[in-house]
Amino acid sequence: MPFAELIAQDRALGSLRAALRRGALHHAYLFGGPAGVGKGTAARLLAQAANCEAPGEGGALRDDPCGACAACRKIARDAHPDVRVLAEEREMARAGRWEPRGGRAPSREIVVDQIRDLVDRRLSLRRFEGRRRVVVIDPADAMNAPAQNALLKTLEEPPDDTTLVLVSSSPDSLLPTIRSRCLRLAFGPVPEAAVAARLVSAGRPPERAALAAALSGGSIGRALAMDDEALVARRDAVARLAGIDGDRTLDWLAFAREQGEDREEAEAIGELLLVFWRDVLALQAGGAALALAGLSDAARRAASGLAPLEVLRRRALTAGMLAALRRNGAATLALERMLVGWFHGR
Ligand SMILES: [Zn+2]
Repeated sequence: MPFAELIAQDRALGSLRAALRRGALHHAYLFGGPAGVGKGTAARLLAQAANCEAPGEGGALRDDPCGACAACRKIARDAHPDVRVLAEEREMARAGRWEPRGGRAPSREIVVDQIRDLVDRRLSLRRFEGRRRVVVIDPADAMNAPAQNALLKTLEEPPDDTTLVLVSSSPDSLLPTIRSRCLRLAFGPVPEAAVAARLVSAGRPPERAALAAALSGGSIGRALAMDDEALVARRDAVARLAGIDGDRTLDWLAFAREQGEDREEAEAIGELLLVFWRDVLALQAGGAALALAGLSDAARRAASGLAPLEVLRRRALTAGMLAALRRNGAATLALERMLVGWFHGR
């Protein structure tokens, strides 16, 4: 059940699996949605399912790859002659799968030569051994404009038994002519609890998993890539902030100065604070399940020490601080403004 490994993408996968069962895959798909939610994995699983050699139930077409037959295994290690994955020149050069013409250094784009190579050399041939040829372009938004234009004709009149899958976390940056020729499937952010569960199953302790999930923006890829030590440092920063006495001005000025040295850190702490305030409000409303178990003591103290309206006010100031950071405001100043608001804005 490899498709079942993709969490919370039932809509997109349901429509793909229905097309597989009917033997009616579209000739061009655009998988759009945030980074790290399984779009690329889904594209590779689709290539496997369309070429899987294991028999389906009662002779029906398979809507899920077996993962174990020769075709599935070849596709998994990128060695199937009828399945091609195109990526940025630099990535493909690193894997020994592409060499730019004329001795130029490989770029961070997908260039027109790569598309011509695909169309003229690969798609013009007969299929070798598979049932369906699948081309995955990931990330499709790495195609520069000439490359996208070179792909248009193929998208319009694709060779028989061929499916192209364009994968993109910014699908709207593709040319409208490309978008209009693809069937678009939307992949959404993964719910926080599901991200946390996935991290626990990958071996993270539950408390760290919850922290990473809270900061992941619904991206399993982002959560998996988070550094454990950085997470703990952020949790401790939020705990420290929650415990600061507003009358001790020097304490919170020092906090703003230290945490403001690194904008990304300040942003991560702001994101964590928003989840923290949500936990505090949940406690005040009688809830018991907290997103951040590692901050439950601090949350309980805040819940009993602050009025709900004050919690809402501090949360709004936290959101304002984050917005200022994202507009490129100075991090120390943004943190100071937030804290002045918390402690002296009543
Ligand atoms: Zn198989």
